[in-house]
Amino acid sequence: MNKETPLKVLIIEDHKDMLQVLRKYLEDQNFDITTAETGEEGLELFNREQPDLILVDIMLPGISGLDVIQKIKERDDDGETTYIPIIVITAKNDIQDIVTGFNNGADDYIIKPFHFEELSARIKSAIRIKRLNEMLLRQSHHLESANREISGLNETLITKNKELRKNIYGLHSLFEISMELSSILEYNELIARTIYTMIGQYSVKAAFYMQADQKMNQLRVYDRRGDIAGSIEELKIDAEDSLIAYFRIHPAPSLVADIKKEINTSAAFRELENHNITLITPVMLKGRIEGLFCFGERVKANPYEERELQQVAILANIISIAINNARLYKEVEQLSYTDGMTDLHNYRYFRMRLNEEIMRDKRTRSGLSLLILDVDYFKNFNDTLGHQAGDRVLKQLSHILKETVRENDIVARYGGEEFAVILPSVDKKGAMILAERLRVNIEQAKFDGEEVQPGKRVTVSIGEASLLDSEMEADTLIKHADLALYAAKESGRNKVVAFSPDLIEE
Ligand code: GH3
Ligand code: MG
Ligand code: MG
Repeated sequence: MNKETPLKVLIIEDHKDMLQVLRKYLEDQNFDITTAETGEEGLELFNREQPDLILVDIMLPGISGLDVIQKIKERDDDGETTYIPIIVITAKNDIQDIVTGFNNGADDYIIKPFHFEELSARIKSAIRIKRLNEMLLRQSHHLESANREISGLNETLITKNKELRKNIYGLHSLFEISMELSSILEYNELIARTIYTMIGQYSVKAAFYMQADQKMNQLRVYDRRGDIAGSIEELKIDAEDSLIAYFRIHPAPSLVADIKKEINTSAAFRELENHNITLITPVMLKGRIEGLFCFGERVKANPYEERELQQVAILANIISIAINNARLYKEVEQLSYTDGMTDLHNYRYFRMRLNEEIMRDKRTRSGLSLLILDVDYFKNFNDTLGHQAGDRVLKQLSHILKETVRENDIVARYGGEEFAVILPSVDKKGAMILAERLRVNIEQAKFDGEEVQPGKRVTVSIGEASLLDSEMEADTLIKHADLALYAAKESGRNKVVAFSPDLIEE
């Protein structure tokens, strides 16, 4: 409160002389005085003037001073407006009026006739109370706003805490996922599991993986899971596509909406958009883009949180390592099934596949044939031209074999200069046609040094055997083919002989 501004005092007193005396005295004390002679007038002035203090006589014509107090305090009771002290002036020494006055909200009383010093003292005390009251009110407002601020901060803390918990949960499951994915060495399974993990972890309706070919000319859909809008089987992305250029610069999970701002000439990207892809994350391997995981629509159509994008980035890193491991494993596995000299499958692989194909025939009854080839007079070739020249013949033979058979047929180096060809779903007749073609192709091929051979050509003898019934085992089939091969040698070499039961009796 400004000390310069005089305090406004409203005096409600019907006794004119008394009113004049009070006004005079209080104006001398530097108060700003407003006066009323009735309760009604007093209330009206109270509303209009907003006094700082009220002096009110109890005995008034019309409504009494006690009623005036009650009405003022009713209005004044919201605790927000400034506090206005009321001092009751009473002529009677009536204790009941004073008590009622206090009950109605008066702050003090003074009994007529009074000493002005006493009035002065009471006014000062009332104003002290008023100021104290106003100070308390201000402090309470202050506390309230501080309180609001604290509860706001508290709410922020609670949300932050929730976010942290979510993140810890996310990281924990990420850890478990990474442990699981790292343990998958089979490439196809790894990709499929990763796609499922992404669908589950990020609540998307579908996801698929686009894999780069070996020369990194193109990315094609390798595996897909879930419901994807439209057909994506034919989707291809060229290495020169601006989408690939984008990921070379931003090798991180990217929202389709953000990619769109950066590129505008990619047909592949437009197609991805048509399939409602929401997020794409590259798998980087040794600095090159190995593949792209594409996420479909989110189940609840909610935007990705920053936390989720960070997790996808971590996941993509883990997957690229896992993919690399799976690749290495595949390579090692391949090595253990490959013949080093001819690059054909080795005997181990041959036995494994023969068993598998026999099992398959048990289910499909689609037939199975086996050819065993042996180079004619090969000892002679080696003895005359040396082992290295012999090796070159074996390599060239391997090449001819691979070129002649169909994609599904399995060519293996069976032994030193012996080869085997497994022919799934091929009967005796078909096998004999192929065997004859092989024999002729080899006979007609030009081999360096072949003139040292008896017929001046490198030739092979071939034994053929087919599965006779569903009970037949791999060993029996091999034995039959061997018997037929022996018969081919016996009958003069450079021949194809099919197994027949009478070969056993001989
Ligand atoms: P045929 O089969 O017509 O009865 O006569 P062959 O001389 O081919 O038969 P044999 O089993 O007596 O000899 C097989 C020869 O194949 C022995 C060996 O000199 C040769 N040989 C086996 N493995 C290899 C190899 O890896 N490299 C080379 N250069 N020669 C091999
Ligand atoms: Mg041999
Ligand atoms: Mg031989």
